[in-house]
Amino acid sequence: MTEEHKESKLVLPKTFDKCPNCGCAETFCQEALKADFPAEKMEKNPPVLLSAELVTQPPGRLYPIRLIAIMDVCVECGTVYAIVLEKLVGRPTGGGGGDGKKSILHP
Ligand SMILES: [Zn+2]
Repeated sequence: MTEEHKESKLVLPKTFDKCPNCGCAETFCQEALKADFPAEKMEKNPPVLLSAELVTQPPGRLYPIRLIAIMDVCVECGTVYAIVLEKLVGRPTGGGGGDGKKSILHP
């Protein structure tokens, strides 16, 4: 007997560049900190309010899977929405270094 695995249509990473409620592209952190950061730094590594992570290990797999959602707040209507959805599949790193710190904001 084999277990059934259902395919997902979700393609990751998935990014959202504006509020799904009102269409406004400005987020709370970027707007509120605009005057405090040089424009270039803001663009390369924009501050975000929330990031949530689920680490789970499917049965029979050697390495865990990390699901990550990065979220911020729309300054226009207050909706909290996902800016980036990402899935990282664990793999052996061979001891030194590894890429566990790879940027998920700019894949
Ligand atoms: Zn909005």
